[in-house]
Amino acid sequence: MRRIPFLDLRAINAACAPALTDAFTRVLDGGWYIQGRALEAFEQAFAAYCGAAHCVGVGNGLDALTLMLRADGIGAGDEVLVPSNTFIATWLAVSHAGATPVPVEPRPDTHGIDPTRLAAALTPRTKAVIAVHLYGQACEMDAIAAFADAHGLKLYEDAAQAHGARWQGRRTGSLGDAAAFSFYPGKNLGALGDGGAVVTDDAARAQRLRELRNYGSRIKYHHEVIGFNSRLDELQAALLLAKLPLLDEANAHRARLAAAYDEGLAGLDLVRPTVLPRAEPVWHLYVVRHPRRDALQAALHEAGVETVIHYPVAPHLQPAYAGLGIVRGSLPVAERLQAEVLSLPIGPHLSVDDVRHVCREVRHALEQIGTPADAVV
Ligand SMILES: *Cc1c(COP(=O)(O)O)cnc(C)c1O
Repeated sequence: MRRIPFLDLRAINAACAPALTDAFTRVLDGGWYIQGRALEAFEQAFAAYCGAAHCVGVGNGLDALTLMLRADGIGAGDEVLVPSNTFIATWLAVSHAGATPVPVEPRPDTHGIDPTRLAAALTPRTKAVIAVHLYGQACEMDAIAAFADAHGLKLYEDAAQAHGARWQGRRTGSLGDAAAFSFYPGKNLGALGDGGAVVTDDAARAQRLRELRNYGSRIKYHHEVIGFNSRLDELQAALLLAKLPLLDEANAHRARLAAAYDEGLAGLDLVRPTVLPRAEPVWHLYVVRHPRRDALQAALHEAGVETVIHYPVAPHLQPAYAGLGIVRGSLPVAERLQAEVLSLPIGPHLSVDDVRHVCREVRHALEQIGTPADAVV
């Protein structure tokens, strides 16, 4: 049986092994492993890539989100609007800053936060919105920015799944006040370990972030604020710098695979991703929907096709957030999506032919499980 893995990090990194080995050797020989030249070089290159003035490397994506909020003084008593269907890190960052996450439902077609629902969630405590470019497609940033401007809110991007994605021709990282990225190995730009960054045009915010990530210190052993230790180390920065030139081609390859999925799945009773005309997604994930999702996943597993659910339990239904008292049934879009979404394999480790094979297996699986009449919504 032909096996299609969901992700193959070994294959992805093997494709640029000489550049990675070279980067490692240079850091090893340099003898300087934290906050050195590789970090500076990567920060400059990644800021330029995003079309922003500054990039501040940090330990991971969750820290990038948390420090981004803290750098602007968001904390106790504040509310931050977040999507109801995101990866839980978006919510955790708000909590770690000391503020309260307030969920806003997504559009069911794009999975992006629904700009028309923001107003209903607004209170006098609302300080910010975090737009999560889920699955690699940018949110409707013009509508969200208009709302944020009208109400004096900060607008943040969670771009952990959207390195290089564009909205109206502009890259994520340049679409709000600041943007948080993750370089977790499986992301579109992935390190060989943990990593993250905040990107912003604002020099003063970047400076506060540089202090916050390094014990609240600007001058060694002098501490301005109660900071953290959350730095992007030299080794990861050097590896990321070596991989950055390959990102656009890797994203273009993902787009070719997404097109092959669109073609191969056309006409089947399953909901394919919707791309807005002004968005250029980078296809971190290719997510379909089906009312009998679990049966579909089981049938594909039997056929050797590995799939993943992003995400099976919405944040408000996680035990971690029981304290917010948001009852089941109150966020019906997120709750429906959690039951219906299925991520098909996509990434640089797969070929168009692999995707065509997956499409055949999906067709076959749908025939096996039978399709309920109300499948297409
Ligand atoms: C991966 C991810 C994060 C967290 O990144 P880490 O580096 O794993 O901490 C945050 N938000 C979203 C949407 C993510 O996908």
